[in-house]
Amino acid sequence: KLHNTIQELRGNIRVFARVRPFLPGDGDADARKPAVEPGADGVSLALAGEAEGAPRSPTRGGEHDKRRPRKRETYAYDRVFGPEVGQEEVFGEVSEFVQSALDGYQVCLLSYGQTGSGKTHTMQGAGSGPMRGIIPRAMEQVAAYCAQQRTRGWAYEMEVTYVEIYNEQVRDLLGEDAGAPTTRDFGRAEAQSGLEVRRDPKTGRVFVDGATRRPIDPADAAAVDALVACAARHRCVASTEMNAVSSRSHAVFTLHLTGTNAERRARLRGALHLVDLAGSERLDRSHAQGQRLKEAQSINKSLSALAGVFASLNAKRSHVPYRDSRLTFLLQPALSGDGKTLLFVNLSPTAASANESLCSLRFAKQVN
Ligand code: ADP
Ligand code: MG
Repeated sequence: KLHNTIQELRGNIRVFARVRPFLPGDGDADARKPAVEPGADGVSLALAGEAEGAPRSPTRGGEHDKRRPRKRETYAYDRVFGPEVGQEEVFGEVSEFVQSALDGYQVCLLSYGQTGSGKTHTMQGAGSGPMRGIIPRAMEQVAAYCAQQRTRGWAYEMEVTYVEIYNEQVRDLLGEDAGAPTTRDFGRAEAQSGLEVRRDPKTGRVFVDGATRRPIDPADAAAVDALVACAARHRCVASTEMNAVSSRSHAVFTLHLTGTNAERRARLRGALHLVDLAGSERLDRSHAQGQRLKEAQSINKSLSALAGVFASLNAKRSHVPYRDSRLTFLLQPALSGDGKTLLFVNLSPTAASANESLCSLRFAKQVN
C-alpha cells in the first residue's frame, strides 16, 4: 500500500526546463554563444563546457575553480523549452495541471532559477497580451471550464490568496495596505511578525492563517491583473551586488476552488499554487554580509528544504522533511499523496551564468 502510494507520487512530479532568449543586457554579439542548448528531441539539454580563457568570476574557497575545465554535460527532463518557445506553447504543456486542480487535486507549479532567468516571466509574464504568463492563462482556463460545467449543474466558489515567504516569515500580499511603498527596508521586514502556516487536522488542508482570501471571478481578467499588480507592489525587493533589483522572496499565488453539484450531491475542492521562487543564486557570488547574509541563508533554507523534500520523495524514504521550511509545509498537500507538482527550471543562456545553470540543472535532476 505504501509502495503504491509512493509510486503514484513519484509519477506526479514533473520537471520542465526553460531557457530564456538572449537579452540586450546580456553582452555583445561575441558573448552570445549559448551556454545552454536544448536538444531537438524536446526533452534534453546540453550545458556547454566553458570556453578556454573565459574570464573567471571571483571565487571563495576555490569552489568555482574546482569545477573547471568543465566538459559538455547532457541532462534530460520531462520537457525542455528553448528560447524560441513562447508563452502560449509553454502553457499548452501546463494546462493539464490546471485541469487537475479543477478536478479536485492539490496542484503546485514552481519556477526555480537564478535571478534574471525568467521565473517571473514564466509564472506571471508581462501585460495582458501574448506575453502574459501562467497565472492569467490558468485563470482563463478555469473560467472557460467552469462556464461549461455550470450548464451541467456545477456551481463554483473561488478565492485567491497571495503570500510571500521571506526570511522564513510568511506575509500577506493582498492585505489592506495595498499600494504601500514598494521597497521594504530590512529593519521593517524583520520587525513585522509573520503569519503562521497551519494544518487542519480534520481535513488535512494546509493554509496560511490570517492571509486575505479574495473572492475572484476568473473570467474577470482585469480583476486578476489588479490582484497580481497589488501583490507585485507588496513584494520584497532589495539590491545585491550581483543584481540591481533581485527578488529575494518566494511568492505563492493560490487559487482555492470549491465545486458543488446539488443534483449529483457531489463536491470537490482543488487548489492551484503558482509559485515564483526566490533567486537560487548562491551566496558566494553576491558576497552578502550582515543582514543580507542572514536573508540569503533563510532563502537557502526554503530552497534546500525543497531540495530535501524532492530528494526524499525520489529516494522513496519514509520520512519526507516537509516541516523543514514554511514553503514545503505550505505546499505539502501538493507535493505529497495525490497532489501534483510541476517544477520549472528557468535558465539563462549566457556563458556568465553557466555555473548557476549547472547548479539549477543539478537541483532539477534530483527531483524525478
Ligand atoms: P526572474 O524572475 O527569474 O528574475 P524575469 O522573469 O524577470 O527573471 O526575466 C528577466 C528578464 O528576461 C525580463 O526582462 C523578462 O522579460 C525576460 N525574459 C525572461 N524569459 C523570457 C522569455 N522566455 N522570452 C522573452 N523574454 C524573457
Ligand atoms: Mg522575478
